[in-house]
Amino acid sequence: MGSTYESALNKFGKAADLMNLDPGIRKILEHPKRQLIVEFPVTMDDDSVEVFTGYRVQHNVALGPAKGGVRYHPNVSLDEVKSLAFWMTFKCAVMGLPYGGAKGGIEIDPKKYSKKELERVSRRFFSEISIIVGPDRDIPAPDVNTTPDIMAWFMDTYSMNVGYSSMGVVTGKPVGLGGSQGRTEATGRGVSEVTALAAKAKGMDIKNATVAIEGFGNVGQYAALLLSKEKGAKIVAVSDSKGAVYNPNGFDAEELMKYKVEHGTIADYPKAQSKMSNHDLKTMDVDVFIPAALENSITPEIAKEIKAKIIVEGANGPLAEGADEILNERGVLIVPDILANAGGVTVSYFEWVQDLQSFFWKKTQVNSALEEMMDKAFDETWKTKEKYSTDMRTAAYIVATERVAYATRKRGIYP
Ligand code: GLU
Repeated sequence: MGSTYESALNKFGKAADLMNLDPGIRKILEHPKRQLIVEFPVTMDDDSVEVFTGYRVQHNVALGPAKGGVRYHPNVSLDEVKSLAFWMTFKCAVMGLPYGGAKGGIEIDPKKYSKKELERVSRRFFSEISIIVGPDRDIPAPDVNTTPDIMAWFMDTYSMNVGYSSMGVVTGKPVGLGGSQGRTEATGRGVSEVTALAAKAKGMDIKNATVAIEGFGNVGQYAALLLSKEKGAKIVAVSDSKGAVYNPNGFDAEELMKYKVEHGTIADYPKAQSKMSNHDLKTMDVDVFIPAALENSITPEIAKEIKAKIIVEGANGPLAEGADEILNERGVLIVPDILANAGGVTVSYFEWVQDLQSFFWKKTQVNSALEEMMDKAFDETWKTKEKYSTDMRTAAYIVATERVAYATRKRGIYP
């Protein structure tokens, strides 16, 4: 298997070919603008010292400051962060947000450290990358294993260094500290919204539609909650890194979330009818499958066995190289990551706007503005799909690339 970045380029390349993209702009978009690797020491609780490796990659800033989350995971690598930054450029553009794309990460298993150690790791990392971040330059946010508390430390670290409280430097902060209402559930809310739209487009009734979700982190949890509570779908299977559970009558997502918080995993959830393997969850006979874990989890071999009619990519890059072709051929509708999980960065944008104006919105305002933007982006992508007779991923790339290309042409190439 090639690198994740190469696989991301191939998917973009399909759109670039189809839309006849100017070769100069294609070259620009194939390369990240800036890549920062930091290695930094942190004192542990027992006074020993560990050195961590972190990254911040800014892929493109044609449409505005760079934007994207920071993840904490043992498998974080430059290739992964580059890919995630690349996707952010297109995600922001497909949503019509005035941002470029960025991403960051630390090679760390956060479960192995105390809260105080994590605070020191977070603060030192943010201090190391603050040479390229800022409210007008690059605005980090949560991603896998990073929380509103960590965003508060990031914001405070930056603020202590510049000498004033800079709320707009980070999004996903706690409400009451410059955070936005609705940000925590925003990605799941966006996933739920586009799932309902995709079902409608397929002539499927979302009410009582069966849904399997891979991954029960922030995205999987709120997608399950909102799809069941607001759209009437039945969440019949859910997995996390420790195992998968099945209930044909549908899980109570709220209870399942509580169980996950208390036990750290849903693998032994007592109200499940049976346990299943993660492989069985991915290939089970459901209407909708939502991969909401990590990238490359659906290999071409698994794609051949998938029975879902719709796949909604809650995670970034869950379909490995070659899986798209198999699923497209088999008529599975794929709502691509850059559209499906864009609810998070959209409410991050609302948060940034609120911070810059020091004027905060009600939850209903946030949710309705988010839904409106998700509906618009879905509609534009769908129309582009029809226009080019292509799949939704390629269509979303075309919509996004047109916007980045326009800005690049108008700005010109410096000097
Ligand atoms: N990490 C999220 C993503 O992949 C959110 C990024 C943000 O809010 O800036 O879209």
